[in-house]
Amino acid sequence: MKVGFIGLGAMGLPMAKRVVGAGYQVLTTVHRNRAPAEELANLGAQILSTPAEVARNAETVITVLPADAELKETALGRDGLLHGFAAGKVLIDMTTATAFSMQEVEAALGKAGGRVLDAPVSGGTLAAANGTLTIMVGGDAELLEQVRPLLETMGKNVLHVGSVGQGKVVKIVNQAMAAIHLLAMAEAFALGAKCGADPNVLYEVIKTSSGYSKMMDLRLPGFLFEGTFKPGFKLDLMKKDLNLAVDSAQAKGIPLMFGSLAAQVFSAASTAGRGGEDFSAAADLLAGLAGATLECHSERSTQRG
Ligand code: NDP
Repeated sequence: MKVGFIGLGAMGLPMAKRVVGAGYQVLTTVHRNRAPAEELANLGAQILSTPAEVARNAETVITVLPADAELKETALGRDGLLHGFAAGKVLIDMTTATAFSMQEVEAALGKAGGRVLDAPVSGGTLAAANGTLTIMVGGDAELLEQVRPLLETMGKNVLHVGSVGQGKVVKIVNQAMAAIHLLAMAEAFALGAKCGADPNVLYEVIKTSSGYSKMMDLRLPGFLFEGTFKPGFKLDLMKKDLNLAVDSAQAKGIPLMFGSLAAQVFSAASTAGRGGEDFSAAADLLAGLAGATLECHSERSTQRG
C-alpha cells in the first residue's frame, strides 16, 4: 500500500520511520524544513512536491500537523490534499485539533469520494519512536479495521472512540487533565519545598499514595528534578491544546475553571519566552512564583531565595 505522510516534526518523523520500517511505500513532501523529509528518503521514502501530489499518488494519507490552521491548509488549501483526492482514498489525521476542523475536512474530502479517520495520539516522542502510542480513533469502525495494521506500526493501543471528531474530543480531555495534573503537582510540591520537604521524598511517598498522578513519573525525573526542559512536548503545543479545551467549553456554554486557569499559567510561561521548552517548564514557572524549585541535584533543592 502506498502511504502519504505529511508533518515530519517531533512526532511525525519517528512515526513515519516506523511506517517505512514496516515495509509500506511512503510518500512525503517538504513544508519549510527539508532535513526530516531527506532523513525519511534515506530510509526509502519518496519526496513529492505538494500535499496534492502526495494524495494523487497514495491510497492512504497520514497527517501529523501542529493544529487546526495547518490541518485546514494542508487538506483544503492551495495544492492541498483535496486537489489530489478521489474515491477510495483515505485520510488519517493524527493532529491534536478541534472536532470542528476535522468535520470540515471530512465534509470536503467526502464530496471527492474520500473517507476520513480522526486519530490523535498520546504518549510523546519516545512512544512515537517505539511504536507504543495510544491512538484514539473517530470514524467508521470498518474503515478502522482496514487500516488497523498500518496504525499498529505506530501504536500499541488503537481504540475506536466514536464518529469523526470524537478522537479530537478524547485527546483534548486527556490534555486538559495532563496539564492540570502537572500544575497541581508543581503547586503542591512547591508548598512542600517551602516547608522544608525534599522533592525526592515527596515523589517516593506520593507515588504510592492517593495524590499520585502519572505526570509525576513523566515529568519529575528527567525534567523538573534536573531543571532541564528540552522537549519532549513543546509548551506552546500544550498551551494550544488547553485553548482548544477552553474554546470547546465556551462553544458549549459550560465552565472550565481549572482548565482556564491552567491555560493562563501556560500563557504566562509562553510570554516569559518558554514556549519552545518542554511543557513541564510551566510547572517550573508556577513553582518559581512561590520562590521554590523542584530541582533535586543541588543545594537549591528545597528552596529558592
Ligand atoms: P512539530 O511542531 O514538531 O511538527 C509539526 C510538523 O508539521 C513539522 O514537520 C512542520 O514542518 C509541519 N507543518 C507545519 N505546518 C505545515 C503546513 N502548513 N503544511 C505542511 N506541514 C506543516 O509538532 P509535533 O510533531 O510535536 O506535534 C504534532 C501534533 O502532534 C500536534 O498536534 C501535537 O499537539 C501532537 N502531539 C505531540 C506530542 C509531542 O510529544 N510532541 C505528543 C502527542 C501529540 P516544518 O517544520 O517544515 O514547518
